[in-house]
Amino acid sequence: MAEQKKNRSEVLMERAQKVIPGGVNSPVRSWQNVGMTPRFIQGSTGPYIFDVDGRKYIDYICSWGPMILGHNNSEVLDAVVRTAENGLSFGTPTELEVEIAEYICERIPHVDMIRMVNSGTEAVMSAIRLARGYTGKNKIIKFAGNYHGHSDCLLVDAGSGLMTQGIPGSAGVPEGCTQDTLSAVYNDIASVEELFKANKDEIACVIVEPVAANMGVVPPQPGFLQGLRELCTKYHALLIFDEVITGFRLAFGGAAEVFGITPDLVTYGKIIGGGMPVGAYGGRRDIMEMVAPLGPVYQAGTLSGNPVAMAAGLAQLKILYENRGDYAVLSANADKLYEGMKEIIRRYELPATVNHIGSLGSVFFTDAEVTNYSIAKTADTGEFARYFRFMLEHDINVAPSQFEAMFLSLAHTDDIIQYTLDTFEAYAKTRRDEIESDL
Ligand code: PLP
Repeated sequence: MAEQKKNRSEVLMERAQKVIPGGVNSPVRSWQNVGMTPRFIQGSTGPYIFDVDGRKYIDYICSWGPMILGHNNSEVLDAVVRTAENGLSFGTPTELEVEIAEYICERIPHVDMIRMVNSGTEAVMSAIRLARGYTGKNKIIKFAGNYHGHSDCLLVDAGSGLMTQGIPGSAGVPEGCTQDTLSAVYNDIASVEELFKANKDEIACVIVEPVAANMGVVPPQPGFLQGLRELCTKYHALLIFDEVITGFRLAFGGAAEVFGITPDLVTYGKIIGGGMPVGAYGGRRDIMEMVAPLGPVYQAGTLSGNPVAMAAGLAQLKILYENRGDYAVLSANADKLYEGMKEIIRRYELPATVNHIGSLGSVFFTDAEVTNYSIAKTADTGEFARYFRFMLEHDINVAPSQFEAMFLSLAHTDDIIQYTLDTFEAYAKTRRDEIESDL
């Protein structure tokens, strides 16, 4: 039998696997757990990405969050090109760094000062060091299923790629690096209080994804974030909101604004860079003044505050802030999509559920209500892979993991959402027919 001709993505993946571990520079991109070869992308516009074989997909990954305006926004692109013409990097201060810091500090009430870094991982790692330096305490509390990047002390019960691969931590992380990381149950304030009581005067901070989006999307239950705020205040620990996903997405002021909770420190990534590699951490002035060269907590970066990255981030933030009304539009579009999916699930009696908030959402293939990590893990990942393949065959690119979020952008129009719903209904009908023929 003649061998089927490989497409260009398959050829590229074969080449990649020889020189890049697993063929990818970040594990979830490998599509390992959905049993497929990832599409290699060569272009994008608005809600679409184009692969190297010339196929066009509606994209619900949006670079895992940064492309909230849609792909290849012309104003952001112009800012990048204009800035790049002056040089790519100087290793000295630039006006753009001041401008973006002022822009954020003037508009986000809980950010008095901010430090730019190059990724979400770096932002969180630095914020944790700062919390320890400021409080003089070592232990930290995180939540099972929350992901805060890949720094050693946070690879404990982590969501995202680790959850996708079914591993709770990583090889190569010495016990000493995680011995001060305590893991609590998301949405269970009693589990946090127990840790505070058992480790009196030892907890430097609680770090939380205010809306969990790395075990699939799991919103906080009423009172949970407020409870964290009260416990941190009571036990003199800092509350860190990891807003790498939610920052400038749920609202300009992120989850802190939506839920009306004031964290002591906040970490950003993704949207803040407009698609360029940027992260940041910021917060109360007395805490941020502990950072070097002003204070004793050391943190540095050769490319931090890179002018091209700052130009992209600032251009995107300005568009978002000047059009703040669009957050309501984005949420209304997202409600149409996610509530539509829920209704289809009900109508076809599928064992699935949809969690969503603002433009973030996930379909979980379980009929349990998903409120934490252990419940999320009961989802049927085989069924997820079937759904993923179906959507892709119909030119829709959703996250290739049960435990990652879908990201809507402002470029996802009504027609696109309707096409997505029609496709989801076709999937649901196929599954219902298969389930019934198996009975
Ligand atoms: N924090 C959260 C909540 C994230 O979702 C991520 C990445 O997805 C990170 C931190 C790490 O960011 P990065 O991948 O830019 O290092």
